[in-house]
Amino acid sequence: MQMFIGGEWVDAADGQTMESIDPATREPLTVVPSAGADDVDRAVNAARAAYESEQWQDMLPSQRGRLLNRLAADIRANADELARWETLDAGKPLAQSRADVEVAARYCEYYAGVADKLLGETIPVRPDLLDYTLREPLGVTAHIVPWNYPLQIAVRGLAPALAAGNAVVLKPADETPVTALKIAELIERSEWPSGLVNIVTGTGPRVGASLAAHPGINHVTFTGSVPTGIAVMRAAAGNVTPVTLELGGKSPNIVFADADLDEAADWVVKSIIQNAGQTCSAGSRLIVERAIHETFVERVVERMKALTLGAGIDEPDIGPIISQKQLNTIESYMELACGEGVTIRTGGRRATSPPLDRGFFFEPTVIDGLSADHRLAREEIFGPVLSVIEFDDARQAIEIANDTDYGLITGVWTTNVHKALWLAGQIRCGQVYVNNYGAGGGVELPFGGYGKSGFGREKGLEALRGYTQLKNVAVRIKPNAR
Ligand code: NAD
Repeated sequence: MQMFIGGEWVDAADGQTMESIDPATREPLTVVPSAGADDVDRAVNAARAAYESEQWQDMLPSQRGRLLNRLAADIRANADELARWETLDAGKPLAQSRADVEVAARYCEYYAGVADKLLGETIPVRPDLLDYTLREPLGVTAHIVPWNYPLQIAVRGLAPALAAGNAVVLKPADETPVTALKIAELIERSEWPSGLVNIVTGTGPRVGASLAAHPGINHVTFTGSVPTGIAVMRAAAGNVTPVTLELGGKSPNIVFADADLDEAADWVVKSIIQNAGQTCSAGSRLIVERAIHETFVERVVERMKALTLGAGIDEPDIGPIISQKQLNTIESYMELACGEGVTIRTGGRRATSPPLDRGFFFEPTVIDGLSADHRLAREEIFGPVLSVIEFDDARQAIEIANDTDYGLITGVWTTNVHKALWLAGQIRCGQVYVNNYGAGGGVELPFGGYGKSGFGREKGLEALRGYTQLKNVAVRIKPNAR
């Protein structure tokens, strides 16, 4: 495959390439350009030229909306192909890839609908002053995308950025370049200005670092790990370029004794096994009331034991881990599963029975008896590994939930509305779910972190505002002018 720069399909300037593999089999899937700084430069220049073109500057907001609606329709029309590629490239079960494709279409539709509703305000100052605000695009926005939701996260940034009138340079993750390139094929089919959307494939240190440091970039949206997010922020600071960082979490499900325990157990499992636990908002901590600890954990363990593992294309419950590197990281965490009362209730190792030995599979795992300060209860493992901690009362549950560097999302499970609302107010994180978790794809819901989970918001109208800058205009009105 080639990458998409300035409306053309091109190789890297220096001809370098890199391979993407199917993590279920380790078989090569495709070869893409491994771009360098020169290619990034070319893409940023192409985006700038498209941004400044009359075609884009004169395009009505409603027309931008129509183009996004067309993209949504094209994504849906190609859903089978996109989902299949996503599954082969990222490993996730086909049903999850299909859901991601639908969410990508929904992002386009949602932001299409608001492209012509980017309203300003009038500010009452004095009778002789008309003061108003305008929401203007930023210019060229860069999007550095991780491997866990390659299509969904690419479109999550691209759609609001375009709706707000920006031009885009997007770098897919090294491991999962395919579906972003497929989106470029769809964009090429309709009347977007040539060069408005550029997809540059390559490694983080080459393409990602050049993009973040490029003086022609007006905003960087980064999703990935904390150390890389810090590097991106540092690089962008050199040009005073604003960044949105979405850096993952150690999100808890807090389960009280009065909850519907079967329902809660279903969701606790779903929230940690989705995409094999490689989800920034995975419910990776279970904070459970001591009175129901044993019965509830047993329900979770039973469900985890019943899950099937396999290549995503065969529709298992859990697909492979993305790479050998990530599998090694998960495995290394298992060595920490020791200490007073700590037990691995199920899983805890690679899954190696044929044909799983061909790929990177890890058994769904429950680690019980952890204290809040244990590394397994604090660090993002990014695999199907659930860390269990007990609490005695609501106040302690809040303390445990907040005792982390992260703050992305929290699930609260109780039938007591007072308790639920009190917790929702006390918990330090960007999103709280009561008696559900990460429901419905959440296209409309502002999403982002507190603490080391990052800052800035994606999804919803908040994200759209994040791709604009605010201008204030003050006009003096001369009384009795003739
Ligand atoms: P990463 O943060 O290194 O990679 C994310 C993206 O950043 C990729 O596109 C990568 O190519 C790019 N990148 C890498 N180095 C860069 C640099 N110096 N400058 C700019 N861009 C750069 O993540 P990873 O190494 O693939 O995964 C490691 C850990 O990151 C995981 O274990 C997990 O904890 C976390 N992670 C979080 C999310 C999330 O959704 N928040 C997604 C993926 C990974």
